[in-house]
Amino acid sequence: METRSYNPFEVAQAQFDKVAALLDLDEGVRELLRQPLREYHFTIPVRMDDGKVKVFKGFRVQHNDARGPAKGGIRFHPMETIDTVRALSMWMTWKCSVVDIPLGGGKGGVICDPHHLSLREQELICRGWVRQIARNVGPVSDVPAPDVMTNGQHMLWILDEFEAIHGGRYPGFITGKPVGMGGSLGRTEATGYGVVYVLREALKILGLKPAATTASVQGFGNVAQYAIRLYTQLGGKVIAISCWDQADKTSYTFRKKGGVNVDELQGITDKFGGIDKDRARDLGYERLPGEAWLEQDVSILIPAALENQINRGNVKKIAGGVKVIAEGANGPTTPEADEVIKERGIFVLPDFLTNAGGVTCSYFEQVQCNTNYFWDKKEVLDKLDSKMTSAFAAVHELAARRKLYMRDAAYVIAVSRVAEAVRQRGWA
Ligand code: NAD
Repeated sequence: METRSYNPFEVAQAQFDKVAALLDLDEGVRELLRQPLREYHFTIPVRMDDGKVKVFKGFRVQHNDARGPAKGGIRFHPMETIDTVRALSMWMTWKCSVVDIPLGGGKGGVICDPHHLSLREQELICRGWVRQIARNVGPVSDVPAPDVMTNGQHMLWILDEFEAIHGGRYPGFITGKPVGMGGSLGRTEATGYGVVYVLREALKILGLKPAATTASVQGFGNVAQYAIRLYTQLGGKVIAISCWDQADKTSYTFRKKGGVNVDELQGITDKFGGIDKDRARDLGYERLPGEAWLEQDVSILIPAALENQINRGNVKKIAGGVKVIAEGANGPTTPEADEVIKERGIFVLPDFLTNAGGVTCSYFEQVQCNTNYFWDKKEVLDKLDSKMTSAFAAVHELAARRKLYMRDAAYVIAVSRVAEAVRQRGWA
């Protein structure tokens, strides 16, 4: 496994600079888009359960809101850095733009480890976070959502505090709320299904029927489980899944050459997406090293676990038959590995297009909250399919017309839409 660490904001800026050059963007627009419009750093004092006050550090970064309110999650992480938050907020701008939803990019975080905090302490951090920023966020300016180590409960505490401060009901201020409390049906499935909507379109372009393909997947969490479920429904066969084993502090790949059964695996998976290895063996799964998912002789790889998983150290292990890589995770491929994949002519479905189903459904949640009328699951998923399919079509059409790598084409579309909005507003 590669050990080199990347500063995510430098990576995000380098990616942007490459696209800015391709688009020949004016200097002013370039300068504006390569950094956040606004960022807030603040302290959150919390009286802990032991009676002492502990001060946490919180952030909110609004990379760009020219196309609509900033949108992006709030992360709780002990190693959170402002550069990670900046990079993620920039990627949110491109993600919302590539799927053409009227939102910009934002991200927030608190340096803390929820594993070592009581629920009461977590609630006070959530309420403290929004108290510090309540004047600079809101349904028409910046809309947060759950992210790493935050969930619908955290969002409801934040919403409740925001509503107390502003004196009203603003359910469109936060997305990722539980269903029944303003959440949208279909959100659980949205990211994984979105991955497969674009994968299905890519297979059409390549003249491959899903039933004639096989896949290997890294991860068995929210994104992977629903991606596998829909891909299998289309007739595809997943032969290997890799996931993290908390007890052994390592990852394993579980392989069944006849095809994995997502229902039986879900039944033996913990809430963190770890598969029980003994019960998997009893069900006839072979257990291989964690990285083996990448070396399988399949048509499709779906990295849906973590960043930097396909890197300089392992990219050459990708089997010759692999035709498509559908990036479910954020940033699963390092820039060096990406060059190798591009040269090999593998059809890459880039992360910020492929996993945009989640934010698209969050946008639907906002629309439903703002109109106070909620759609059934079929309506949500049909609209999601339509958005993802047209986003893929636009990116592929440009890639084919200008002979661009799919990742570059997705960036060109996303950045040029935001650049256009910035120009039309007269900002640069
Ligand atoms: P999750 O926490 O539900 O699942 C993560 C999975 O990855 C688990 O099965 C875990 O065992 C596995 N994993 C962790 N470390 C691993 C390793 N070293 N090797 C193999 N497997 C490992 O997470 P998720 O919500 O499914 O998100 C997965 C990725 O997709 C992340 O990069 C996330 O940022 C991205 N993403 C998620 C959403 C969403 O809506 N959930 C939206 C956009 C992007």
